[in-house]
Amino acid sequence: MATDRFGRNIHYLRISLTDHCNLRCVYCMSEDQTFKPNADLMQDDEILLLTKLFAKLGFDKIRLTGGEPTVRKNIVDIVRGIANTDGIDYLSMTTNGLLLSKLAKPLAEAGLQRVNISIDTLDPEKFKRLTRWGKLEDVWNGIIAAEKAGLTPVKLNAVVVKGYNESDVVDLARLTIEHPWQVRFIEMMPFAEATDIQTGQITTAAEIQERIENVMGPMEIANDGKLDGEARLFRLPNGKGDVGFISSVTNPFCASCTRARLTADGRLRLCLLREKEVDLLTPLREGATLDELQHIILGGIWEKPWGHGLAQGVIPLNRAMNEIGG
Ligand code: SAM
Ligand code: SF4
Repeated sequence: MATDRFGRNIHYLRISLTDHCNLRCVYCMSEDQTFKPNADLMQDDEILLLTKLFAKLGFDKIRLTGGEPTVRKNIVDIVRGIANTDGIDYLSMTTNGLLLSKLAKPLAEAGLQRVNISIDTLDPEKFKRLTRWGKLEDVWNGIIAAEKAGLTPVKLNAVVVKGYNESDVVDLARLTIEHPWQVRFIEMMPFAEATDIQTGQITTAAEIQERIENVMGPMEIANDGKLDGEARLFRLPNGKGDVGFISSVTNPFCASCTRARLTADGRLRLCLLREKEVDLLTPLREGATLDELQHIILGGIWEKPWGHGLAQGVIPLNRAMNEIGG
């Protein structure tokens, strides 16, 4: 079991499969973002070996992310390899959904259990402005394909940015009346690359909830008030699905955090919003034994920071979100 010095059992790993992406969301990266050369990223066999090591240390839950995980070459084989790793019981992916209409079925057949799909607005023009390159219809087709392939329950992620999509939250929430989906609103967090927009145009979970309830009426607390992952859940009157709020900035859930991240270039990142990382890929390539690697991982987990320092003005600047894996 991997435990940190505060007694938290860390058993959930988010793996960034690549820093590359087929979109350029304004809150994530600049339009002229450059990416790491392939040789600097974990190769398929390295990902599978590290997954095996984490599983031996008690990690049972993995989420694949990025960058955009579906642009990774051999994504279906990588999913199959991870799904077949002893000890991995839960395997999901966060994706922008653009390629899911083609990939949902093979990914599900390879062992992927669920997807979170990012969709920040239902307005095609606003979607294009937010993602710079995206076509909303492709994402929508991806959501339908994911549901059809059994990658359920489908969860939709929306980051809300003032001046871009704050008035779209009602339409997004309304999706949960017709569909058994979870629509989750995420407070925008500050990282390197886009900190101006991230700190200046954040919309808080409380503001989003108020906007929704002003139009739709009060929501009921769902899931007995328990967090679902990092989301606090509510239900609209007659809703089939849930509306979730991920208030990482204004009401963080650090005390119950069970996760660590593996960056696309093989660094163990202990907290999304802290710069502290432990390099795993270099020792792996230099011939460290599996025991040595396990030791490095356990040492890193032990030192996991208690929580983020946004309230004290500490913003992590060593990496953009796409390299860490959201
Ligand atoms: N490309 C995939 C996607 O967009 O779903 C996976 C990677 S993306 C970095 C993972 C999640 O992080 C997405 O839901 C995205 O909206 C969210 N995200 C990106 N930048 C963010 C920021 N600055 N603050 C909060 N969430 C952010
Ligand atoms: Fe790409 Fe996801 Fe970042 Fe958007 S949020 S630019 S889709 S990695």
